[in-house]
Amino acid sequence: MMIFICIALVGLVFLIISAIFGGHEMEHEVHFEHGLEVGADSDSDSDSAGGPSPFSFRVISIFLCGFGAIGAITRSYGVSYEICSLLGLAGGLLFGFFGWLLIRGFWKNQASSIIRSADIKGSQGTVTTAIPVKGLMEKKIKDYVSEAKYEVGKPDTLIIRCSDHKLRVHFEEFLAYGLGLEENSYDLLVVPGGPQFFFSDDSAFPKYSWAGRNWLKFLVEKHGLKNIILMAHYDCGWYKFLSFGKQTPEILKAKQIDDLRRIPARIKEALPQVNVQMFYAQPEGGHVRFTEI
Ligand SMILES: [Zn+2]
Repeated sequence: MMIFICIALVGLVFLIISAIFGGHEMEHEVHFEHGLEVGADSDSDSDSAGGPSPFSFRVISIFLCGFGAIGAITRSYGVSYEICSLLGLAGGLLFGFFGWLLIRGFWKNQASSIIRSADIKGSQGTVTTAIPVKGLMEKKIKDYVSEAKYEVGKPDTLIIRCSDHKLRVHFEEFLAYGLGLEENSYDLLVVPGGPQFFFSDDSAFPKYSWAGRNWLKFLVEKHGLKNIILMAHYDCGWYKFLSFGKQTPEILKAKQIDDLRRIPARIKEALPQVNVQMFYAQPEGGHVRFTEI
């Protein structure tokens, strides 16, 4: 009987050790090693790609506790050592299995690792989180609740810019840190070529000019906007498209800046009360420089 009590105590001591010395790290360590043993297949499903292994330190400790406790209890009723061992084994496996389920549940909750922008603002670091991108794509999320709060806000500015993906983060960074605009303080009108639509009635696309002016008027009047910020960028695909690719980016840049300068007068014809600012974005040394026009 003493042998069973000793095994149960060893399991208990292991459990206490893992609780004191950060069992979380130990889970990962053991899981990693286990992953190597079985050939850690990166294409395996997300459950096995993360989370504690059934052979982790804690699960084994729980197994020992269960094995020892059941063995000792059954032995105290005079059952033979062989039967006690079998019953202990069954009890240990059962304890270990439920323990593993419980630890796995905790791990999954912790693994959500939500990092809010406010928490990391102004700090530098590398964040690595095991998010299986392929898995997310395959899941086809049908329902999602944003972290950001829904706030009605009161915008006072309209941004008109090009839809080019290359400049998206730079535009947003410039608005936030270059101009100090709050996230909720502006509306966006994002179309290919951005403010170029003001001149498309001079070209083959008068409908775009009509639509753009009406959207602009709608937003300014509906939200009572006071400022309009126009942004154009170097090597704009829409300008290249309009010139049938016959002009160099430098010639198109001159055309864009000339267009920007002529737009405030056009806006003020319909909306004399608004302020208009223009900026030109140009890649420079691996970053993007914004210059007021
Ligand atoms: Zn563009």
